[in-house]
Amino acid sequence: MRDLSRDTGLLSLNTATIGWERTIREAVEACEKFGIAAVDPWRHQMHAGGFAENARLIRNAGLEVTGLCRGGFFAAPDGAGRDKAMDDNRRAVDEALELGARCLVLVVGGLADGSRDLAGARRQVVDSIAELAEHARPAGMPLAIEPMHPMYCADRGCVNTLGHALDICDALGEGLGVVIDVYHVWWDPDLETQIARAGRGGRILAYHVCDWRRETRDLLFDRAMMGDGVIELKKIRALVEGAGYDGPCEVEIFSKLDWWKRPVDEIVRTCVERHRSVV
Ligand code: ZN
Repeated sequence: MRDLSRDTGLLSLNTATIGWERTIREAVEACEKFGIAAVDPWRHQMHAGGFAENARLIRNAGLEVTGLCRGGFFAAPDGAGRDKAMDDNRRAVDEALELGARCLVLVVGGLADGSRDLAGARRQVVDSIAELAEHARPAGMPLAIEPMHPMYCADRGCVNTLGHALDICDALGEGLGVVIDVYHVWWDPDLETQIARAGRGGRILAYHVCDWRRETRDLLFDRAMMGDGVIELKKIRALVEGAGYDGPCEVEIFSKLDWWKRPVDEIVRTCVERHRSVV
């Protein structure tokens, strides 16, 4: 297991961590200030102020791009909606290519509006990823399926375990992998087996960290800073690295209730400290 105690080179800052409304410029400046070598930007932040300009900021800072967040949300009640989602996903692939990202992160989406057909939603996800892969594979952009905690099954992601995501990878073949985000998978009794399986298949494209507050107050916006919750972070990182993953640990914290209210410097300084001590 790698020693992170003096490291910032293996930390990637997911730009949502400093707050949805803050800018890529602020994220890049924080990375430079704290010696962070990588980012994973969100598309809405990339488009605020112009995608090309933000891409230039990232490039000029010499930052590695561990992913682009995000593609996905494939579910739609009709064909027109599905086409629109697919067009947007192809654009996301192109943006990831422009950034030289390691992967495009896919949050696959839940049920279409008005639907209770979960099996149908899951079939649609597989079909949509297969179609998107026809665009991404020849361009060399890996698609990274991020299994979501089951509490998001209806609205954000109906692929809910690492095993489920790997089944889809196996079914669809090359050019696909997974994001292992501790927030989504820490509870899974099959986690150890599935991380090993992901490693054997060369499927681990990114590793996301934060923490799970024992008394979670909001399903989306109450992720905790690493060390402030109940997830066995070092144990999971050991499994992920044991499975062959050698990329950065990406800090991704959605915290409207706490961290996003704080100054960027305080957030990022704490990320660096916790990366060294508890990740
Ligand atoms: Zn994540």
